[in-house]
Amino acid sequence: MNTDCPFCLNANNNKAFLKNDHFAAIYNIAPILPGHALVIPIRHIESVFNLNDKELSELGDFMKQTTRILLKAFNGEGFDWSLQEAESAGQSIHHVHFHIVIRKTNDLESSGKWYPLVSQNDQILLDSTQRTRLSKEELLKITEYLAKIAMDGSEK
Ligand SMILES: [Zn+2]
Repeated sequence: MNTDCPFCLNANNNKAFLKNDHFAAIYNIAPILPGHALVIPIRHIESVFNLNDKELSELGDFMKQTTRILLKAFNGEGFDWSLQEAESAGQSIHHVHFHIVIRKTNDLESSGKWYPLVSQNDQILLDSTQRTRLSKEELLKITEYLAKIAMDGSEK
């Protein structure tokens, strides 16, 4: 764990709505749309090339499970997934993170407009003065709601 890393802190402080030994799903404190979450490895890993075989084999299922929870919680019709690797690609938080953004018809003026928003998202997450951020209470409420859906789903 890297104590200077916002994602390590989130992964280790019960901020996840879904978690196993290797991955955590956390709601984005500055969502570009309702239903924008992040999937991160529990270990502080900067590059996807540092994911080990065990983590790689679990990643797909964890992404699907997280996406299903978000689709249900936000009545989604579709979703976008993305990853930025290295600063040249827009990675500002040096802990691997996959964005999952839940989509609905006409949620943005054009369906492709999500990408510029996601590519600026790291900077917004690092800037605690940003007014687009959710309050701690709002974030906690959404996380609890998503965790409940995750629990309900795992019982079936
Ligand atoms: Zn980290």
